[in-house]
Amino acid sequence: MMRKKIKMNCKEFAVAIPRFLEDELPDRQMPGFLEHFETCDECNEELQIQFLVKEGIARLEDAADFNLSGELAGKVEEHKRMLKRKRIGNLIIYCMEGIAVIAVIFILTLVLVNF
Ligand SMILES: [Zn+2]
Repeated sequence: MMRKKIKMNCKEFAVAIPRFLEDELPDRQMPGFLEHFETCDECNEELQIQFLVKEGIARLEDAADFNLSGELAGKVEEHKRMLKRKRIGNLIIYCMEGIAVIAVIFILTLVLVNF
């Protein structure tokens, strides 16, 4: 059985932003978070602002030029890739579970027929 995607509203998204930026957002919240990020302009902007503030403050000392919005895009892409990999892994597990169930039914049928 596939897990239902947990949708996020703007308020939940706002709460999740700090955890996302700390790489502490739970996996089960990540799909809803990324989906909201891509569908809601306001929250998209909010995440960019918080990311800039957080990373900007962290780097005020080193005057190296940085491409923060590019880094946020990279972070989003990285999480998307991780989710995709995880989804493929889950699919394989579901298939194996299905095969196991069929095998058990098959064996039971054989046992019952021969009984
Ligand atoms: Zn929103």
